[in-house]
Amino acid sequence: MSTDSKRHPYGVAILGATGSIGASALNVIRRHQDRFRVVAVTANENAAALREIVDEWKPSYTGLVDGTLAAGHPWNCGVGCLVEAASRDDVDIVVNAVVGSAGLSATLAALERGKRVAIANKETLVMAGSLVLATARRHGGTIVPVDSEHSAILQCLAGRPVKEVGRLVLTASGGPFRTWSTEQIASATIADALQHPTWSMGSKVTVDSASLANKALEVIEAHHLFGIPYDRIDVVVHPQSIVHSFVEFIDGSVMAQLGIPSMELPLLYALTWPERVPDTGVPSFDPISQRELTFEAVRRADFPMLDLGIGAGRRGGTAPAVYNAANEIAVALFLDGRIRFHEIAPIVQSALEEHGRDDGESLDLLLAADIAARRFVNAKAIR
Ligand code: NAD
Ligand code: MG
Repeated sequence: MSTDSKRHPYGVAILGATGSIGASALNVIRRHQDRFRVVAVTANENAAALREIVDEWKPSYTGLVDGTLAAGHPWNCGVGCLVEAASRDDVDIVVNAVVGSAGLSATLAALERGKRVAIANKETLVMAGSLVLATARRHGGTIVPVDSEHSAILQCLAGRPVKEVGRLVLTASGGPFRTWSTEQIASATIADALQHPTWSMGSKVTVDSASLANKALEVIEAHHLFGIPYDRIDVVVHPQSIVHSFVEFIDGSVMAQLGIPSMELPLLYALTWPERVPDTGVPSFDPISQRELTFEAVRRADFPMLDLGIGAGRRGGTAPAVYNAANEIAVALFLDGRIRFHEIAPIVQSALEEHGRDDGESLDLLLAADIAARRFVNAKAIR
């Protein structure tokens, strides 16, 4: 999609409009209504929150997945609503802010129609990254990252080719358990895991940040988005969440992108890329008051979800889809009080041993692996 100013305002679909990223996207668009118009919104549940959004934005399409509205209500659309919203002719940009693998079909549908997808929904890039990128290439669609680390890398790369990149270094806040002992982590409660030190996010990604599964998902996401091999992607803990990632070039020069932790910055950039537009919505970064930026090595033994996920990425085939699906169910079980925090990693590991194979990456295989991993983890929790 060209960002030719004659075509303003662009029609935007927000999938997952009632969530944390959905709210940030609406905040950004509220400040840029000369450029963007919200024409479609979807949510999984919470009709009341969706109604508030509809009252303000008056989109031409609204979809609620969960079916709690009266039969015949125009918003009832079941699982098909994401694809319906993403495929519309009046939509130029799809903000995919859905959590989990449910977002995949909408991303593919939008890319097949040559649209821009501003993607926060990292799970689907992990599950089917090669397929998503190939679909974009084949149909002229564009995929622009919303995740702050990947937005940082995109900005640091500034269009330079992969052959000039020596290494990507993704930063991680370290989550709420960064300084906890192994024993403390083993007895962590749901409330402990939901206390993120620097970011306010939906519950699934917050738990993923506590286990560092989120960083494994982001390493795989970076591998696909930027075409960089796994042995040239590193992770470093940076508790202040100010440096959003680094790119080291082959001549040794290192670029970093900085900013206060707000998803509104990467969301705006994903909407306007490659242009920049003036924006006053996020407080500016003041190095004097920030005083210090610190970096530490990841305690890999205490956060096994990081290497399990990177290992699944290296293995390829359906292994990343299995890692992602098993993690989604394990996190849901943890949030339901049915397993302990430190049980997430062994459960995901056993799902990978059972189902993760380097056996091709067709959509059918990936979906089958996703379902098998979910069934496997659910069955383990019942035993
Ligand atoms: P959230 O839980 O706050 O919101 C999720 C949204 O998706 C809600 O609108 C919900 O109704 C909808 N949804 C959930 N399941 C669905 C389904 N099965 N079908 C259709 N819609 C569904 O989550 P979030 O924190 O906004 O995160 C969204 C995505 O963005 C995740 O992939 C997350 O990893 C990623 N992300 C989030 C942040 C952040 O700061 N919150 C940062 C980077 C990346
Ligand atoms: Mg991130």
